[in-house]
Parts: sequence; structure tokens; C-alpha cells
Amino acid sequence: MALIELEKIVKTYDLGHQKVAALRGMDVRIERNEFVAIVGQSGSGKSTLMNIVGCLDVPTSGRYRLSGREVSDLSDDELADVRNLEIGFVFQSFQLLPRANALENVELPLIYRGISRKERRQQAEHALYTVQLSDRMTHRPAELSGGQRQRVAIARALVTQPSLLLADEPTGNLDSKTGEEIVGLLHELHERGNTILLVTHEPKLAARCPRAVRLVDGLVVADGEGRDVALANAEALGAETLAAFHAAQAAAQTGQRLP
Ligand code: ADP
Ligand code: MG
Repeated sequence: MALIELEKIVKTYDLGHQKVAALRGMDVRIERNEFVAIVGQSGSGKSTLMNIVGCLDVPTSGRYRLSGREVSDLSDDELADVRNLEIGFVFQSFQLLPRANALENVELPLIYRGISRKERRQQAEHALYTVQLSDRMTHRPAELSGGQRQRVAIARALVTQPSLLLADEPTGNLDSKTGEEIVGLLHELHERGNTILLVTHEPKLAARCPRAVRLVDGLVVADGEGRDVALANAEALGAETLAAFHAAQAAAQTGQRLP
């Protein structure tokens, strides 16, 4: 059974005076333990798709099954339960509590689950260890670098052991090198068995994913090997992006040949 099955998903935002068709009939199937990049230009529907997959929003029409369970027509409360049990989110803007330290931020989702203080602490420490932040557990967000903040956010997303990790432009606020490190961490988590959906506008990051799905105007226009789809996306973004993509690919290959 596929983890995610989207069938003819349509999402239309009704602004009263105007209707915006964000998703126009999307069919996507994702198995457990896949690592899929979602690419496409700004406004192509990537975040709308992530919000529906993450049960933050419901489609206007179409069917969505998560682990075989139909979730397209659940109530808000039921959706919140699915979200808490099944989904971990990572956002571009980290969304950490500024007054809480790393440990407290990571413990937060466990409080909602009524887990005892001692167990919370243990699980949060373990999640921070997984993202290599054991030495920063009592630091507040302001005392951490951007990459470290994003690691805390990833630990918070993982601490509940969700079926699915959703990352919407997690490298958008990071410099290129730190962004690559964060995506490297996602690859490690994938190797440990996590299922990951990564929205990225950087073709070189998408190229490293085993699979990528490309959206144009709310439709899937390509779905396949990460490298191939990322190349098509870079071509569509123009000569400059394409040249940067080829340079990054060449650099990565040179790197692989070094001892
Ligand atoms: P992306 O993440 O690929 O940049 P989005 O999913 O955010 O794209 O947006 C897809 C389309 O839906 C865009 O045209 C955007 O303006 C529109 N849209 C997104 N969110 C809303 C909203 N809450 N209300 C109205 N229109 C929206
Ligand atoms: Mg977006």
C-alpha cells in the first residue's frame, strides 16, 4: 500500500472576487521510504500541495489517502489528529519558539501527546543527537546559527516518529553550503527509513534526490529520476540557472572522485 495516494486533487482558492486554481487535478503516488523533491517555479502550487499532503488544508475536490486511510473529507479535529500522529513539518522560517531552548522546542510536540517529563526529555535529547546538536541543547534559537536552527526544527519534526517528513524550502533562508548540509542530513534520515518530501527551488538539491516531481501551474509535468527532472526544471528557469546547475553537477562529480 502506498503511503500517499493523491487522485485528481484540485485546490481552488476562492477570494470572493476571484478564484485561483492552485492545483488543477494532480495524481501522485508515494511509497514508504521514498525521498521525493517537489520542484517548480514560484506559484506553481508546491506549498499548496504540501499543505494538503500535511493535512493543514483540504482539497476542493479529489481523493487523498494516507496509509490507506481516506483523509480528504475528515473534520478539522480529525485532520489535527492525523497531523499530530503522522506528519513532521519543517519550514523555511524554522518557526521555533524564541524564548525556549533547543530541548524545550523539540519537546513541545510531545507535551501535546501527554508524554511524561522524563520521557520527553529523553526523546528530545535523542532527536537532537540524531541531528548532531547534542552540544547545543540548552541554547535558544538566537544563540544558534541558521543551519543549527533548522536542525532543531528537524529534530522537533522527527521526535514524534512521524510516517512522513515534509520540508517546504527548508534551505530558503540558508547560505548555499549550509543548505547542502541540511539536505545531506535529510539524506541520512532517509537512509534510516524516513519518508521525505522536499520542496526546493534549487535544481542541484533536487538532482540529488532519487525522485523528483515537477509542477507547472498546478499540474504535474514530470515525475522521475531526480537528476533528469531537475535538469528539465533548470532549463525552464533559464540559461543562468542551467549553467549554475551544470557547474554544481560537475563540482559534485569531481568531489566524488577525490579520496
Ligand atoms: P508555490 O509554493 O509553488 O510558490 P503556492 O502553492 O504557494 O505556490 O501557490 C499556488 C497558487 O495559489 C499561487 O497562484 C498563489 O498565489 C495561490 N495561493 C496560495 N495560497 C493562497 C491563499 N491562501 N489564498 C489565495 N491564493 C493562494
Ligand atoms: Mg511555496
